[in-house]
Amino acid sequence: MEACGGDDSQSTPSSEGAVLVVDDDASARLLVCRALRRNQLRCVEAPNGEQALELVRATPSAFDALVLDVMMPGIDGFEVVRRLKGEPSTAHIRIIMVTASATTDAEIVRGVEFGAVDYITKPYSPAVLVAKVRGACERARAECVLRGELRFAEHHAMVDPLTGLFNRRHFETRMDEASAYARRHDTPFAVVMLDLDHFKVVNDTHGHPAGDAVLTHFASAAREVLRGGEDVAFRYGGEEFMLLLRSCDASLAVEVADRLREHLRANPFVFSGGNAVTIAFSAGVAAAQASENFASDELVSRADAALYRAKKAGRDRVERW
Ligand code: GH3
Ligand code: MG
Ligand code: MG
Repeated sequence: MEACGGDDSQSTPSSEGAVLVVDDDASARLLVCRALRRNQLRCVEAPNGEQALELVRATPSAFDALVLDVMMPGIDGFEVVRRLKGEPSTAHIRIIMVTASATTDAEIVRGVEFGAVDYITKPYSPAVLVAKVRGACERARAECVLRGELRFAEHHAMVDPLTGLFNRRHFETRMDEASAYARRHDTPFAVVMLDLDHFKVVNDTHGHPAGDAVLTHFASAAREVLRGGEDVAFRYGGEEFMLLLRSCDASLAVEVADRLREHLRANPFVFSGGNAVTIAFSAGVAAAQASENFASDELVSRADAALYRAKKAGRDRVERW
């Protein structure tokens, strides 16, 4: 049963989700399901709040909507609403409460405040029930599509399409975070600015697509050499890259850059014709200083200045600011 999930779900919408009908009264459940099924809405039944939560949590993407009796022994309907809406993976499910004439306005308000989208009072008209459930399912589907588009847009706003590395925009965000982390933990962080050496020659000799493949090869090497999560590589511009290294001073950053150089030596890029080339780069290192409260403002220009010196000094080397 593949449908639309919550924020944690990677699933794409492929079919409509089911409606979970929750009521401790079996004949009441049957009545709801019969009306829904007659109108081509798929339903699954749960006899109490505990089982409803279990079913939804096991496969949140399987459900678009809940038709939920509020008066149940054990975990009542209000509590089911509160818990499902409180969890990111299940918050997308639209909940219609089924209230009794004894349900007070204050209780209905509580359910709505917990996140129920609508309610229907027993005895209800099956036509109204079906219309409300269908509307809830359609809105759940529409929101699912929007969430997917938002995830796509967010991804492309921070990832470079050629190399799959984070882009320059995301680098700025991560620099601010690194600076805050350094202040909190009183530990330095470093940036390494790298520029491939004589890269234009690759394009001129082998063509632009080969140049692209070299950039991708470099990106894979950077990912491989860096500690997962802690240290991150970014594509800063054409053949310029940045490494952002957490809990790292300038000396350690130089070591990381040299490790990357060694890795590239051990893993040359092989052109489609069979020729191999070692990708070389020049790099500049700058570390955030405790004496400057680990400010990030000057780091890029300092790393850039050091990189410039590395180029001037003959390339294929790392310089510290
Ligand atoms: P240096 O050692 O001084 O850095 O020399 P270089 O040739 O690497 O530097 P230069 O700035 O002269 O050339 C960079 C080249 O990178 C020129 C540009 O066309 C190429 N380039 C930038 N972005 C891309 C890209 O996405 N794909 C390809 N194939 N080439 C790119
Ligand atoms: Mg350049
Ligand atoms: Mg270059």
